[in-house]
Amino acid sequence: MTKIEVYTKSWCGYCRMAKDLLDARGLDYTEIDMTDDPGKEKEVIDRSGRMTVPQIFIDGESIGGYQELREAEAAGRLDGLGNDKTERKKEPKMDSTPRKMVVMGSGPAGLTAALYAARANLEPLVVEGAEAGGQLTLTTDVENFPGFPKGILGPDLMTAMREQAARFGAELIRGNISSADLSSRPFRLEIEDRTVLAQTLIIASGASAKLLGLEAEKKLIGHGLSTCATCDGFFFRDKRLLVVGGGDSAMEEGIFLTKFASQVTIVHRRDQLRASKVMQDRAHANEKIDFLWNKTVEDIRDPAQGKVLSAILKDTKTGETTEVPCDGIFVAIGHTPNTAIFKGQLEMDETGYLITRNGTATNVEGVFAAGDVQDHVYRQAITAAGTGCMAAMDAERFLES
Ligand code: NAP
Repeated sequence: MTKIEVYTKSWCGYCRMAKDLLDARGLDYTEIDMTDDPGKEKEVIDRSGRMTVPQIFIDGESIGGYQELREAEAAGRLDGLGNDKTERKKEPKMDSTPRKMVVMGSGPAGLTAALYAARANLEPLVVEGAEAGGQLTLTTDVENFPGFPKGILGPDLMTAMREQAARFGAELIRGNISSADLSSRPFRLEIEDRTVLAQTLIIASGASAKLLGLEAEKKLIGHGLSTCATCDGFFFRDKRLLVVGGGDSAMEEGIFLTKFASQVTIVHRRDQLRASKVMQDRAHANEKIDFLWNKTVEDIRDPAQGKVLSAILKDTKTGETTEVPCDGIFVAIGHTPNTAIFKGQLEMDETGYLITRNGTATNVEGVFAAGDVQDHVYRQAITAAGTGCMAAMDAERFLES
């Protein structure tokens, strides 16, 4: 009998997604909750060499985190394990009846669209995407979503939105839309091993964290380099950390990391922050936070040792480089819209954001876009939810006409 172990933290969104995936596949596993247990944190680092959650072991062998678990599933490596009764069909399936609506993405935009569409009896199919629940799943307190005067945890808000959409009949499925043919209706969408036809498509696939583009970064992600403080911050107790970026995300990550780290240095490429005044003030008031201005990260040491030892920073004014010792680096330099599969089919700007007009319509009739995938200006949970509502109403009107 295969033994599966999953190391988790209570607030970790990817941990929930990994457990959901194993549950859906009928696989038994032992959960090792590391919340408030430094002994278990050390154990998982010793066993996997990685500083990110979840960490999954199959028969004692480390397979990595949620992403690697999904890749293992896609490659059929979970088939036939333990009590799994749901072996993947090797033949691709094709749904014969077109859906009235498919929603791509399950952040605030996608789930609000699904809620409105479900209430209008459009029986939407929500394809949750690789980062189910979207960016809020990876954050802590959301203080600015109306209706929660004391704030709400991002993952809790997304769980509530998911339940609300499902309550009215939205069907939510795990997986990614890997390609889309929008040349005629119904649109043809490939969802891993399944093809779905859709009369309307709402694209709410959001945006994913950007990386700096360094070779060392690819090798050190999960080994001291991270894009998610709430996921990985607790591994860095009493450590010296760098946070790269000057926006709200960088301030939020930096402030959160001071719960664990001894020192957090924010490295910004200019001498003025982009972050909102309130976040700037909080960061400046935090004794554990200091700033390095006009600095870009040129390299990170040391991939050969499989851990972060220092960053090589270049001064944008003088060109001088310095080596700054640190134990971890959090990259918080914004996001890239998830629109790659629509290149050549949908109009987008030079950075890949979808262009909408007359509400949420794209240049293809029947295709609508909502949330961060089409908004590089506001990018808030509440504006994403608002455009999700608009997209559902636009799609409903389109179907009626
Ligand atoms: P952002 O506002 O686009 O800021 C990105 C930051 O990273 C900027 O300071 C930018 O520098 C820097 N940067 C970009 N590319 C870089 C590179 N290659 N190397 C070094 N630095 C680079 O992104 P964000 O902070 O993720 O915020 C996105 C949106 O979410 C915003 O609307 C924000 O208000 C919102 N948000 C709100 C909260 C909150 O209210 N609590 C929390 C998080 C995010 P420059 O300034 O020089 O361009």
